[in-house]
Amino acid sequence: AKQEGRGRLRFYEARMGAQVRERRSLEHDLRHAVERGELRVVYQPQTRIDTGETVGFEALLRWQHPERGTVPPNLFIPISEETGSILGIGEWVLRETCREAASWEKPLRIAVNVSAVQLHAPGFAELVHEVLVVTGLSPARLELEITETALIRDLPRALATLRRVKAMGVRIAMDDFGTGYSSLSNLRAFPFDKIKIDSSFTRSVDTSEQAATIVRSVLGLGRGLGLPVLAEGVETSAELAFLGAEACHEAQGYLFGRPGPIDGFRHLTTGRALP
Ligand code: C2E
Ligand code: CA
Ligand code: CA
Ligand code: CA
Repeated sequence: AKQEGRGRLRFYEARMGAQVRERRSLEHDLRHAVERGELRVVYQPQTRIDTGETVGFEALLRWQHPERGTVPPNLFIPISEETGSILGIGEWVLRETCREAASWEKPLRIAVNVSAVQLHAPGFAELVHEVLVVTGLSPARLELEITETALIRDLPRALATLRRVKAMGVRIAMDDFGTGYSSLSNLRAFPFDKIKIDSSFTRSVDTSEQAATIVRSVLGLGRGLGLPVLAEGVETSAELAFLGAEACHEAQGYLFGRPGPIDGFRHLTTGRALP
């Protein structure tokens, strides 16, 4: 039995070792991903529920690894936040998306995810300003998506940075509302322009009374604070019908379009009909 235990321990150690090596190798490859051109941005439409018109796009990062194929952001973004490579990656995403959006015929919004590490790094507001100047994108067309978890690291600092960005005319959305560290005082203290309901709630609005209650109360909160609400992860017309009936403003999800290369959405950015 002792022998067996030792064998099992060695097995676990070997597995742990493999996980650590795997992480190190991702960490290492990530450092060069930008310069090697392995990163790309896909876009997902954001739709006004009452009129059905596209009002903007969320930019979502993809990493095309030469051997591993597509690595999902939920896997590599936490690693890049720990190592700090998210600073270079995030700057690349901001430049890339603002340049892209500035070229659109229609003045649609572009929503860009901002990590806690970026938000708290010195010079973030200056970077946003510089990118807007260089690309010529109107500040009102840029929306930064920030999670509550990103704020709590250093609330006063996050507030100061967001106020400076907001003073430029850039919009700020609270991302993943209701997950993680929800604090209603943050909603009031921070200069948000929008609340995004996480897909974990949207998914069940049509089947779970609990999820429906939560979504209704977020919509009530938005109304009370004068903030429009976007529901993410809308996949079915039943979910959309619920949201429409509850006067949710905007929706995003597979029902309207999966995240993809912007070329697949040209009919939305130019306003011309599909060929
Ligand atoms: P998020 O900001 O909550 O983004 C929404 C996620 O839901 C995206 O996953 C999107 O592809 C997915 N999604 C959209 N519609 C549907 C739907 O109808 N059903 C389902 N099941 N999923 C849907 P993705 O692209 O894998 O990104 C995951 C997370 O990675 C994002 O969550 C965001 O937190 C982070 N992320 C992505 N791009 C960036 C980036 O450029 N910078 C930073 N800091 N984080 C990013
Ligand atoms: Ca987001
Ligand atoms: Ca989410
Ligand atoms: Ca559902």
